[in-house]
Amino acid sequence: MSHSSINAGRLLAHIDELGAIGRDDQGRLTRLAASDTEKQGRDRLVAWLEAAGLDVVIDRIGNIFGLWQSEENAGQPALMLGSHIDTVINAGIYDGCYGVLAGLEVIETLREQGFAPARPIAVAAFTNEEGVRYAPDMLGSLVHVGGIATEAALATIGTDGTTLGSELARIGYAAAVEPGALKPHAYVELHIEQGPVLEREATPIGAVENLQGISWQRITIDGVANHAGTTPMVMRCDAGLAAARVGLFLRDHIARSNAPSVATVGTMRFEPDAINVIPCARSSPSTCATRTRSACRRWKIRLRRNCAGSLRRKA
Ligand SMILES: [Zn+2]
Repeated sequence: MSHSSINAGRLLAHIDELGAIGRDDQGRLTRLAASDTEKQGRDRLVAWLEAAGLDVVIDRIGNIFGLWQSEENAGQPALMLGSHIDTVINAGIYDGCYGVLAGLEVIETLREQGFAPARPIAVAAFTNEEGVRYAPDMLGSLVHVGGIATEAALATIGTDGTTLGSELARIGYAAAVEPGALKPHAYVELHIEQGPVLEREATPIGAVENLQGISWQRITIDGVANHAGTTPMVMRCDAGLAAARVGLFLRDHIARSNAPSVATVGTMRFEPDAINVIPCARSSPSTCATRTRSACRRWKIRLRRNCAGSLRRKA
């Protein structure tokens, strides 16, 4: 096949139109999985898939597929292109939607050019990939590959107390097709870079080598509350100081390691949280993202040792 180009104007118009669905009165974009606004986005996507002449398939976990197949290639495993259309809170318009709508654009371009692919081409939008409302994230694709039972995924309880299954039924996207029925020959996902590296290096595109393994820890440190103005320094058991040491430990540990890991303390809470009282307790969820589970495990062990050490020193 000779060199050909997509219709960039059409792709961007689709992204803009989908990006207008789910705006609040201040213009912020939020389409949480299986919500009313995400239903509107799903409806729009399905309308586009149908207008492009694709066979629309929706499975039990609400994954949406638009299948372009002919009499000649029907039954062959499809080339699948896709991503997700659910968003985080106050989202951008490209995350996920770019991957789904680029897939649609590829199919529309090839159709217009009279191209006859050797195998079907499918565009996919997987359910609850962001994981804001239902945990874990990437749930629809996890179900698709058999990483979690469909029933268990449907029973997932969201941050608002709903279950994913009941919400999919409510918005009309709980279908009968068994997830994973559409086995792809290959899968390609275009995705906007969520970090700053490509932009800083002025590199237009990169290939994902791996996914990060993520470990979230909530650490509670017990100290002794006392008057901040009258307790001598040597007599303090300051949970706030131990907390600060944990944050520094994380930074130093990551800096020393050769692994492409990152870590941070995202939140801290002090008790009693008063300006003139030495904190008696502090809890701080911290995050570690690495490429391997064993790296996460090593990090947890070292973190525990460091934290315990701080308290033994009556920090
Ligand atoms: Zn995404």
